[in-house]
Amino acid sequence: MKCPYCQQEMVCDTVDVGVGEMQSGPYGCENCHAVAVSWEDRNSPELDADEKKFQVWKGKKDDAV
Ligand SMILES: [Zn+2]
Repeated sequence: MKCPYCQQEMVCDTVDVGVGEMQSGPYGCENCHAVAVSWEDRNSPELDADEKKFQVWKGKKDDAV
């Protein structure tokens, strides 16, 4: 999955569950800090047109990185 805003490959946190790795968080872009929109937020009024289309938040949420 590529970031729709900067075309970098997006990554997600994973946890080792013994038999392999499991996704433990949403996909995010390390370059511009865009984050995939969660299921609950997909109809959020805070989504702008691009975010609705791509279902990816732009890197505006200041997650402590
Ligand atoms: Zn990006």
